[in-house]
Amino acid sequence: MFAGIAEGKSWEMVTQIIAHCLWSKHVDKNPGDRAEKCGGMMKPVSVIKTKGDFSIIHQCQVCGFEKKNKLAPEDDFDKVVRLSKGESE
Ligand SMILES: [Zn+2]
Repeated sequence: MFAGIAEGKSWEMVTQIIAHCLWSKHVDKNPGDRAEKCGGMMKPVSVIKTKGDFSIIHQCQVCGFEKKNKLAPEDDFDKVVRLSKGESE
């Protein structure tokens, strides 16, 4: 499946999978610091690919803040795919 994604064949499906599974929460000012009081839901609005790495752009539904999150194909992306098939961890 990943090979097909790399070739851009299943891109629309991938973005839909991510849109369903990777909602985040606006709790960090800097990654991991939990300093942000907003607490709004961060919607995954787009996925970009840079030099073989996938990144998700999250947008806060409360304040509109946008954040880029890197997605490692070996781990997180596989998790996304498994989640999309309804498998638990
Ligand atoms: Zn926010």
